[in-house]
Amino acid sequence: MRKQVAAANWKMNLTYQQAEELITGIINTPHQLSAHQYAVFAVPFPYLTMVADKLKGKANTGVAAQNCYTKTAGAYTGETSVEMLKSIEVGYVVLGHSERREYFNESNEMLAEKVNVVLAAGLTPIFCCGEALSIREAGTQNEYVGNQLKESLFHLSADELKKIIIAYEPIWAIGTGKTATSDQAQEMHAHLRSVLAAQYGTDVANEISILYGGSVKGSNAKEIFGQPDVDGGLVGGASLKADEFVQIIQALK
Ligand code: 13P
Repeated sequence: MRKQVAAANWKMNLTYQQAEELITGIINTPHQLSAHQYAVFAVPFPYLTMVADKLKGKANTGVAAQNCYTKTAGAYTGETSVEMLKSIEVGYVVLGHSERREYFNESNEMLAEKVNVVLAAGLTPIFCCGEALSIREAGTQNEYVGNQLKESLFHLSADELKKIIIAYEPIWAIGTGKTATSDQAQEMHAHLRSVLAAQYGTDVANEISILYGGSVKGSNAKEIFGQPDVDGGLVGGASLKADEFVQIIQALK
């Protein structure tokens, strides 16, 4: 069984006190993670240490940064290096979220550099991809999203690629309450797996976890995660409520 992952993306939400209450609430809500199931929390930078401390000793949990810089150190005021993240025991970095692509001009090329620094530090990139509504309406989503993978990931060796988690997030489903249907999610995930297989072979492609993101909720997670090529979710709004995120964790295969 591939790794199944419920990843919370808190985005730029919550005060420190609210963040502490949320992570404590999740820990205290009874739930179980099987050996192949993981819960990962992508939290704002100022809360990484607090959340990591709370999760210490809890098997199959992890903490993710929502971004990092391409350089490892130096005169880059306001940026955060992956070495800094590593030194506070962050295990994952979300890269290329559509909000970063849109508001901070992150290109496929820049993301290829970020993937390299994250892998070089031994952390796991959660690489996001996904198309805008106009692209879906034009029917070119497969090519578009396939190209995001090619331009940011295909310089990697098979061993490096195997360390990556991919998150497919159609932009039109993010924060809109409009989820892709489970069929639409499955179709894209199967396509992405075939793009990976064409470059790296089926065995490698079958090892990569591909998460779905975009209006995942407690009420729809089970159906979406039940699709054969969907290996969990990257969850925004619904990850801000303890009981609902626990329900999502429990919906993992
Ligand atoms: P929502 O779950 O709020 O739609 O956000 C999805 C997302 O962008 C997770 O990274």
